[in-house]
Amino acid sequence: MSGTSLVLEFAVQTVGPLRVPVLQAPMAGSRPLLPGATVKGAARRSAAAIATVLGLPPCRGDGDPRCSLCRLFGAAGVAGAVHWSAATLAEAGHPTRWPDILDARRRHPVDRALGLSAGPPLPTRLAFPAGLRFQASLDGWLAGDGRADAALLAAALLRLPYVGGGNAAGFGRVSVAISRLRLAEEAQDVDALLDSLLSQEVV
Ligand SMILES: [Zn+2]
Repeated sequence: MSGTSLVLEFAVQTVGPLRVPVLQAPMAGSRPLLPGATVKGAARRSAAAIATVLGLPPCRGDGDPRCSLCRLFGAAGVAGAVHWSAATLAEAGHPTRWPDILDARRRHPVDRALGLSAGPPLPTRLAFPAGLRFQASLDGWLAGDGRADAALLAAALLRLPYVGGGNAAGFGRVSVAISRLRLAEEAQDVDALLDSLLSQEVV
């Protein structure tokens, strides 16, 4: 396999409730997970927005190997360079099993701005409350020395505004912290990588 190996570990913390479709919810009693595809989809949107700001050619979604979005996230018929594992709920003094953290059926949603009930709980949604911390990791093989794609990926994660689509499946605001980024098994300074992305040294 040519290229540079990447390992990236990060934490996703829910800032607001994150609603998930029941069908995606793990079975009661199991450890809660945030599907890797959910975080990946949000990260791709975030990366596309950053690529636009940087003036990179727009992604056409055709799997062009010169397109960093297609390289990192894949395209129709083309696998992405990075494997996204599911994010697992970190132990942090709160319940870590489904029945204890789900609140969709027990609590009526409240519109905090108005201080009013926002209606009855939706029967087909479950929610992670705010303040949960999920631990996630991804790994793969990046083009060249890996710095350009790793920098875009790190920036996309750190600027992730929400996961879950911001749609009917839940406007889940999150904040992300990167705990470790290794290229070719060498720890990288994430801030230095981001600086090089902004100055376009690595693009
Ligand atoms: Zn593309």
